[in-house]
Amino acid sequence: MDTFSRDKRHEIMAKVKSRNTLPEVLLRKKLHQLGYRYRIHDSSLPGKPDIVLKARKIVIFVNGCFWHGHKDCGRSRLPVSNREFWEDKISKNIRRDESNYNKLKEAGFDVIIIWSCEMKFVLTKVDEVVKLIERKQ
Ligand SMILES: [Zn+2]
Repeated sequence: MDTFSRDKRHEIMAKVKSRNTLPEVLLRKKLHQLGYRYRIHDSSLPGKPDIVLKARKIVIFVNGCFWHGHKDCGRSRLPVSNREFWEDKISKNIRRDESNYNKLKEAGFDVIIIWSCEMKFVLTKVDEVVKLIERKQ
């Protein structure tokens, strides 16, 4: 039995969701099967990329649409109340992301971004990502 109420559980889930999401886990599994070596959540790199293939100089971010402000995506729609607060917060996140991506690119990394709304196509997406990685060999 869940000791938390439905709302409380939802709140907890929303917090943990940003790490080890399903697309992220499936992608890692696939890369592992293919024999790739990678690190996860590497805090020594800007933005703490979710997956880092250091030897190939590729970083992968699996981004939640709301917090990272996925453009023109239904999941990134801002709440009606406190609109200014959210606009400000999300646009700060977007700017921070962009600055991190630029730093990584300057350091010679390829940056691959996957959005959580692509989760329904996660297997297709995983194949796409693998193709991108293999193209770099
Ligand atoms: Zn999205």
